Amino acid sequence: MRAGYRIFGIVQGVGFRPYVARTAEKYGICGYVKNCGGYVELLAEGGHLRSFLHDLFAFSGIISYEEFTPSGESFEDFKIVESTDGDALPPLLTPDLPLCDECETELFDTSSRRYLHPFISCAKCGARYSITEKIPYDRERTTMAEFPLCDDCKKEYGDISNRRHFAQTQCCNECGPEIYFNNLTGVTAIEKAIEEITSGKVIAIKGVGGYHLAADPSNDAAISRLREIKRRDKKPFAVMMRDMETIRKYCHITDAEEKTLKSNARPIVLLKPKKSCISPFVAQESDRLGVFLPYTGYQHLILQKIEAIVLTSANLSDNPIIIEDEDAKKIPCDGVLHHNREIVTPLDDSVIAIVDDEPVIFRRARGYVPLTIRADAEDGIFAAGSDLKASFGFSKGGNLYLSQYLGDLENSGNAKRYESEIKRMGDLFEVRPKRVVCDLHPGFHSSKIAEEMGLPTVKIQHHFAHTLAVMAEFSLDSAIGISFDGTGYGTDGAIWGSEFIYADRYGFKRIGHLKEWEMLGGDDFAKDAKKCAISLLLPYGNVLSDSRFDIIRAALHNKINTVRTTSAGRLFDGVAAMLGICEENTYEGRCGEALCRVAESDCDAADIRLPLEILEDEFEIDPTPFFERVIKNEEKKSFARAFHISLANAIVDGAVFVREKTSENNVCLSGGVFQNRLLLSLAKEGLKRAGFNVYHNKKYPLGDGSIALGQLYFKERK
Ligand code: ZN
Ligand code: ZN
Ligand code: FE
Repeated sequence: MRAGYRIFGIVQGVGFRPYVARTAEKYGICGYVKNCGGYVELLAEGGHLRSFLHDLFAFSGIISYEEFTPSGESFEDFKIVESTDGDALPPLLTPDLPLCDECETELFDTSSRRYLHPFISCAKCGARYSITEKIPYDRERTTMAEFPLCDDCKKEYGDISNRRHFAQTQCCNECGPEIYFNNLTGVTAIEKAIEEITSGKVIAIKGVGGYHLAADPSNDAAISRLREIKRRDKKPFAVMMRDMETIRKYCHITDAEEKTLKSNARPIVLLKPKKSCISPFVAQESDRLGVFLPYTGYQHLILQKIEAIVLTSANLSDNPIIIEDEDAKKIPCDGVLHHNREIVTPLDDSVIAIVDDEPVIFRRARGYVPLTIRADAEDGIFAAGSDLKASFGFSKGGNLYLSQYLGDLENSGNAKRYESEIKRMGDLFEVRPKRVVCDLHPGFHSSKIAEEMGLPTVKIQHHFAHTLAVMAEFSLDSAIGISFDGTGYGTDGAIWGSEFIYADRYGFKRIGHLKEWEMLGGDDFAKDAKKCAISLLLPYGNVLSDSRFDIIRAALHNKINTVRTTSAGRLFDGVAAMLGICEENTYEGRCGEALCRVAESDCDAADIRLPLEILEDEFEIDPTPFFERVIKNEEKKSFARAFHISLANAIVDGAVFVREKTSENNVCLSGGVFQNRLLLSLAKEGLKRAGFNVYHNKKYPLGDGSIALGQLYFKERK
């Protein structure tokens, strides 16, 4: 008996081949296993083949497999064969993996050769994507190539019964990379860095995907200083905590949150903090604290001594993450804990919230990239994504690849990084784009870069792309798309942001939206919520008693620098300001968050019906009844919850209207406004009650980070 298989999935760089070899030995199988470009090839003969295959396909990373008929001579034993380069099929590569339990135990085992070794790893754990220069994934094609294995490590690498058999990133105190702090090395360097942090200093630490800044979260002065260094005023910082026990001490936590914290991606999870000894300057006004667990050996070593550290990327706010040692030297902090292993791919920490036990991804980077999704899509498409929370994508061999989060392209550093990552990721996966899909927005940097590629280019509407991104994740062919966000360029030149569309993979029809209003454009369009409130309340006069009222009214009257908009993001800003809750988006989404926070603390609220104004086959949602109630009332803040409820109900009414016109029962929710957990939760609940199948992205961001995924899922009508 002989069998050949091509196995697809997360099967490279996770100890799959050694697992196969061990299993083969157990059942007396001969043959080989090898990494090919995009899959693992296996030939098996003799022995207990059935039992072998049964155990083999129990491996969790396998997504699919194909059988082939092997030819050639038979084998006398079982071997892991060297990788073969080049293959038409797209290579799959594993994201960076956190330190596994066995390595964690070994790290503190005084009898181990790897006792306190900062870079301890095995076949199941360690850096992957961030250090891989070329594929197939093997040590010589990673930045571990500079650290040849010592004799003892070599022995373990070759020993089929060892968990470091074929482990590409493994090393030890003898042969691994070195860690430094000033003129100190190894554990002494780490200890000195910890000493500095506990004494109130701010220290830079080289991580997996880039440099972090670390400070003591209980020290107000240290956190204030960190805010100065980062030039970050209000946006919360994340805190890395020693273990689950520590997290439970500081935060309320659900099972789904715990599972996400412990997942292989080790993302930052937004948790509800308990009253604690953490400095109020860490989360500032936010009622959520971003928390994550250590994922490298040296992070574990640091957190052995201090149970929690603020850990935030070391770049200036809104700039690209720092990966070069030279750049790190310029950080105005009190010292740098660095190491001599190079980072190839810059990766921020990923950020997730759990809403109704389901993940909502705010930022997709380390731990998730470069996982793909399978879809029937043409080869060689490049998708440029969006400018805010930029991320681009490629299609190859039925896989949709999405880059990591790359920030706002208005920043020139981010724009440069965006371009260099296109080249790097394209080279790595050997994708040669033939066609380009980008956003309709005439001012988008991403669209300009896409056009400069000189390839056939299609521009698709932003909210159509948002809806397609959800359809891609759930393999849907058509859906009602409800996309609520800040800014999306509309086909009529207005700023859209509250779309109800009917979409298939080829196109969409816009059926509903918020009633359009006019407001001042300009740089602070998305920042100054008070200006937005004045525009919305214009028909009622200067009800907010703002000194700028006359100027704004004149500008709107004479249409000087005005824009027409249906942006739900701006509606949230305007409402936050008119209720006296928050007046400025010092960081993106701040007003919406503040509104949600106040709304959640209210128990009951009036349901103010926002009627659908029906114009033939389309409708508009008119928020006027809400405004009228607000301006008549003294207790304005008490309308925060009512606003969420009213809008969620209008969303259900809108979806029902579209269903009546199209008979479509799938609803895809998308756009950054749904990061508002109360709105998301209410809308989902209402839609489900009305009998809809409700979807939103769970493996990909809810906001603009998945625009490229939608663009890749778009099909051109031939
Ligand atoms: Zn391990
Ligand atoms: Zn070694
Ligand atoms: Fe958007």
